[in-house]
Order: sequence, then structure tokens, then C-alpha cells
Amino acid sequence: MSTDSATGTDSSSAQPEEIAAPNMPGGESAAAVACCEQSDAKTMKPCTLCQKTLICKNCRMSLNGKSICAECTAGIVEELEAEKATTAHLPMALAAGIAAAVLSGAIWAAIAVITGYSIGYVAIGVGYLAGHAVVIGGRKRKGPVLQYTAVGCAFLGLVFGKYFIFAHFNAVKPLKEQFQVDISYFDPQVIQLFMDNFTKTLSPIDILFLVIALAVAWGVPKPTEIKLR
Ligand SMILES: [Zn+2]
Ligand SMILES: [Zn+2]
Repeated sequence: MSTDSATGTDSSSAQPEEIAAPNMPGGESAAAVACCEQSDAKTMKPCTLCQKTLICKNCRMSLNGKSICAECTAGIVEELEAEKATTAHLPMALAAGIAAAVLSGAIWAAIAVITGYSIGYVAIGVGYLAGHAVVIGGRKRKGPVLQYTAVGCAFLGLVFGKYFIFAHFNAVKPLKEQFQVDISYFDPQVIQLFMDNFTKTLSPIDILFLVIALAVAWGVPKPTEIKLR
């Protein structure tokens, strides 16, 4: 009677089912595009500059608050490097700056002589022109070397203009009108008088415009500002 148990058929019923495939690598995730090794699908989007390369929070660079890719970053850094002025650009930048400053300073003085007023804000134009002349003379380069040059040239142009205005109203004009005496603008005595009184002739408004003019000159050859991180 116990023979039915000896058939051995019941042994097949205990099949282990643990052989089922575990999570296979490269199943669903392989279909999605990865931008980097730690690719984050939630923040992934095209670079705002080239609109092509995909970037995510783990691989993007920030340029002035915009998210850009590594290639675009490298390109910008290279461009800025090429824009930078060196001392080799200095002689031509200086020559152009001095020419523009002296010329615009003379125009400023001429306006003062013609109108009878020393118009302070015209000084800003001297700073602006000196700055641009320095950049043009420096072959469109920018950087601290040219910024100092621009400020120096602007200052020169402003002192030059100020000198002419001073000489005209304090020496040449009164001497001509009151004593019918013709005196040169470059008379040593006039130059001496100017040197002695230069600081006294500056009104607070003059100083304000001088500072603005120099700031304008400083700003023109300023390198393109970027915040990269
Ligand atoms: Zn890009
Ligand atoms: Zn990424």
C-alpha cells in the first residue's frame, strides 16, 4: 500500500523559483541620453549658448547666471584671453589716447571760450574719447594696461583743457581787454600762475566731473565682465 509513495513523481513539485532575472543593467536607463557621468535627468536641458549640448546640474557651468556647457565655457575663456591687451599694445594705445585727449581737451576749452562758460560735463566727453582712442590704438584690445592708459590720457586732456580755460579767463582775455596786451597762451608766467592756482580753480563740481570723466575713461577698455563658476 505504501508503493505509491515510491513512484518518485512528487520530487518535481519542489522547483526553486529564485533563478528569475534580477534588475539587469542597461534596461530602461540606456534609452535616455546622459550628459555626464552623474547625469541628472530632472535638470537636464540644452546649453543656453549653443542650444545643442545637454547639461544638467552636475555638469553645467554658470556664465553670468546662464547655464552653459563645458565647450562653450572653454570657447569664452579663449575669446577673453585673445581680447586681453599686453604691453605690446601700449605704445599705439598711448599715442592714440594722448592725441584724442589733447584734441578733445582743446575742444572743451574752445567751447568754454566761445560760450564764456566752463561746462563741466563736457569733461566727461574727454574721458569717453580718450578711452575709445586707447582701445582703437590698442587694436580693440582691453584690459588693465589700457585702463590705466585711458585714465592717464583723460587726466592729461582735462588738465590741458583746464589750463586753456584758466589761461583764457585769467590772463589772455583780461590783459587784452584792460591793457590791450597780447599774451601767449603758453607764456611761462601764465603756466606758473596756473600751477600756483590749479587746485584753487577746481570747484566741487569740477572735481565731480573730473572723477566721472576718469571713471568713464577707466570703463571703456574694461574687459568683458563674466562670472564663471
Ligand atoms: Zn554650449
Ligand atoms: Zn550632466
